[in-house]
Amino acid sequence: MSGGFDVVVVGGGLHGLSAALHIARRGRRVLVLEKNCIGAHASSYSAGGVRTLGRHLAEVPLALESLALWHNIGELLGDDCGFHPVGHVKVAESEADLAILAQRATRMRDAGYRHEELVDRAELRRLLPAVAPHAVGALVARDNGFARPYRTTLAFRRAAEAAGAVIREGAQVIGLEHRGGQWQIRLAAGDTIRAPILVNAAGAWGGRLAHLAGETIPFGFAALMMIYTNPLPAFVTPVVGLTSRPMSFKQAESGHVMIGGGHRGIADLDHGSVALDVERLAFSARTALDLFPILAQAEIVHCWAGIEGMLPDEIPVIGLSRTAPGLVHAFGFCGHGFELAPVMGGIVAQLALDGATNRPIAAFAPDRFAGSVATDGQALYQPAG
Ligand SMILES: Cc1cc2nc3c(=O)[nH]c(=O)nc-3n(C[C@H](O)[C@H](O)[C@H](O)COP(=O)(O)OP(=O)(O)OC[C@H]3O[C@@H](n4cnc5c(N)ncnc54)[C@H](O)[C@@H]3O)c2cc1C
Repeated sequence: MSGGFDVVVVGGGLHGLSAALHIARRGRRVLVLEKNCIGAHASSYSAGGVRTLGRHLAEVPLALESLALWHNIGELLGDDCGFHPVGHVKVAESEADLAILAQRATRMRDAGYRHEELVDRAELRRLLPAVAPHAVGALVARDNGFARPYRTTLAFRRAAEAAGAVIREGAQVIGLEHRGGQWQIRLAAGDTIRAPILVNAAGAWGGRLAHLAGETIPFGFAALMMIYTNPLPAFVTPVVGLTSRPMSFKQAESGHVMIGGGHRGIADLDHGSVALDVERLAFSARTALDLFPILAQAEIVHCWAGIEGMLPDEIPVIGLSRTAPGLVHAFGFCGHGFELAPVMGGIVAQLALDGATNRPIAAFAPDRFAGSVATDGQALYQPAG
């Protein structure tokens, strides 16, 4: 276990597993080190939204490529991951919201994209018959959808292992040193592993791992919260978001409704634990009720939160380290990394094995903040919200 690997991936979430899968399928020996168990953090707690709608412009090419993979996810993983292409709808609650969405639609068309469609009140009501009367229109991506997060994480794990990747759980990386062309990867258990290439897929802990490797990347973290209701009669098919208020909303085939969208609890990075903020959860429930009055019948049966890595500009860090040799970063997906997992593994494999990628990743460069964001000694900054 201490040597013989071409690549070591730190982090057993979707991004570490996707990287391991693609690296193993290219015939290289790859080891995944996970401090807890596979899918212990963001990847399993995710809402599972497969969304290209409303993405940061820099993410759009990757998100579109990933969406195509989602539509054939069974071919990649041998499991359909419960993917349902039900569409995503971003609702305008006022004329001012509609103007914002119209601007966005124009901006996307000007950039050459056709996947976001502005719809009027009548089409919105056809898509969402139960929506409240104040909703005036929407932006729609009809081929978006959702999948099951834990099932997806396990599918990536199984596919990676079937391709030859080795996974070690309960393996916390506590020290990194680059010596003689090799990373010396020190584990809390006491042993040291060596490999020429290291992938940082440590999620919310990615900034800390970069810091261990001697690189300062300002990073933050957040406990993103979700609400789960009792089963209700079917009343909504697409995944729904809002324009000016944080909310993401979906109803599973079982009738359970899931409400998320960015309200944050309290995260403790040292212990990997979260505490829910009940007032903010109530705010989230109130927003959902405003949009779908039928929810007055719903009961909340479960709430949870997962720790996600955040960056000051709300897009991830993807790329080769500028300060350390043989180090690839892919972390801090800012609440929207589930959709990107299928495409990201191939990108990380290219960076790790070829030293470059043909995908447009300049906007995600690890050194893009270069002293412009204040941090503490550990590179931590305080995200808003
Ligand atoms: C509540 C919630 C809802 C979300 N909803 C959506 C959505 O609808 N659509 C969407 O696209 N995205 C969504 N996301 C975001 C998405 O789930 C994440 O972006 C994605 O799962 C991140 O995967 P990851 O592999 O980078 O991180 P993680 O799954 O957190 O994996 C990182 C792993 O690294 C391990 N690790 C860290 N440090 C070390 C170390 N030193 N040694 C060993 N292991 C280490 C951690 O234990 C962890 O398991 C949501 C996230 C949350 C929390």
